[in-house]
Amino acid sequence: MISHVLPTYNRADIAFDRGEGAWAIATDGTRYLDLGAGIAVNVLGHANPDLVAALIAQAGRIWHVSNLYQIPEQEALADLLVQNTFADTVFFTNSGTEAAELAIKMVRRYWYEKGEDRPEILTFEGAFHGRSTGAIAAAGSDKMVKGFGPLMPGFRQLPWDDMDALSAAIGDRTAAVMLEPVQGEGGIRPLPDADLREIRALCDRAGALLVLDEVQCGMGRTGRLFAHEYAGIAPDIMMIAKGIGGGFPLGAVLATENAASAMVAGSHGSTYGGNPLACAVGAAVMRIVADPAFLAEVNRKAGLFRQKLEALVAAHADIFESVRGQGLMLGLKCRIAPTDLVKAGYARRILTVPAADNTLRLLPPLNITDDEIAEAVTRLDHAADSLHA
Ligand SMILES: *Cc1c(COP(=O)(O)O)cnc(C)c1O
Repeated sequence: MISHVLPTYNRADIAFDRGEGAWAIATDGTRYLDLGAGIAVNVLGHANPDLVAALIAQAGRIWHVSNLYQIPEQEALADLLVQNTFADTVFFTNSGTEAAELAIKMVRRYWYEKGEDRPEILTFEGAFHGRSTGAIAAAGSDKMVKGFGPLMPGFRQLPWDDMDALSAAIGDRTAAVMLEPVQGEGGIRPLPDADLREIRALCDRAGALLVLDEVQCGMGRTGRLFAHEYAGIAPDIMMIAKGIGGGFPLGAVLATENAASAMVAGSHGSTYGGNPLACAVGAAVMRIVADPAFLAEVNRKAGLFRQKLEALVAAHADIFESVRGQGLMLGLKCRIAPTDLVKAGYARRILTVPAADNTLRLLPPLNITDDEIAEAVTRLDHAADSLHA
């Protein structure tokens, strides 16, 4: 008999009851060191007092009003995002997938208003933009699209980080190039800064828009507020979600005034998107994470973590191949199935997340302590010990 919850997930047999910072505590009281953070969502850990206070204060005032009205909490969060990024304007969603949907619509409507026929958005193998019909068509992975056709047309997948393939494909039929500066689900694969700069230049030459998906790599995860800042370039459109809500469902599309110019009243909408409750929490997250002192700490901890992980890889050369990633968006490229490590991690009371390309993801809360980093590496070391042939 089918379970009452649609069985679309492979769930571990653990249920969590509460959390404290980097620790998730199961219903049986077992404390797990959480290096998954709800897949890069709980950027400030579990039950962060500042976020709890922001949520409770707003919950006692007003939760939801509809975008039929002015929403001061939404404007305040938009102000923070615009002040801290390339963007001139923001639309709020409830998830990364919805942000991807709007990004695609914004691109299409932009060219429609310009009167140019640009039917193609270029995307990349290994990409992940969500699970809606549009987002699976964009990423084009066999696993995600199987059985869900006919697929939405208008996307063409290119090999990842292959500048020759991109220069050959881009042209006056290209509406946009859409990519994650660091692929998350694809296996923590950062695009070199020089290549992101070249993609920006190729887009400019072809007149195409550059859309960045920073749903996973954004919000301080890489040690900059947004990953593309390392390359010194700016996109035209950017999707964010995951970290921005710190665990409350919230996403957004950020855009320049030019890229957003076709999105006039009535062209898009959302019932919940940008509700006061989500935006109050999002603003609390932004105030903490966008602080340069906080980001400097992320970088310092990332250096410490990475150094210890390099030693871990060296000590278990039969299990691990290399460390990859940037900031606290780290991956261990494995020589064994990463799911075996995830399972061995459960037994050592540490939570990790598998990804494609045989990679184990380590996405701790950004405020994880030095001691917790050391403890995480000890637990990973024991998990690897338990897997030696
Ligand atoms: C998680 C993710 C999404 C989808 O976000 P949801 O909130 O699950 O809809 C899109 N893009 C990237 C890069 C992601 O990591």
